Amino acid sequence: MLKNCMEIFVENALHVVLKEYEGICKCPKCIEDIKAISLNHLKPLYVVTEQGQAYMKVNEMEKQFQADVIQEVVRAIEIVSQNPKHDEFK
Ligand SMILES: [Zn+2]
Repeated sequence: MLKNCMEIFVENALHVVLKEYEGICKCPKCIEDIKAISLNHLKPLYVVTEQGQAYMKVNEMEKQFQADVIQEVVRAIEIVSQNPKHDEFK
């Protein structure tokens, strides 16, 4: 089964970054938007599931890699918080 590991990295980074952000909307719609924007700016990282664990361990140790993911997440949070879309589809 194919899996985009980047989704997990973004999810983890989002968790860390959101703790430091007060006063922004954290509703499911905004969280999804933040993830979508981050993932669109980052390269997808497809792995087959069995290889995924090993691959993720390697990447987790890469400080530069983590910094890049966090940077994209922060940028996405800023975009979404300035222009939240959560009312559009009601
Ligand atoms: Zn929202």
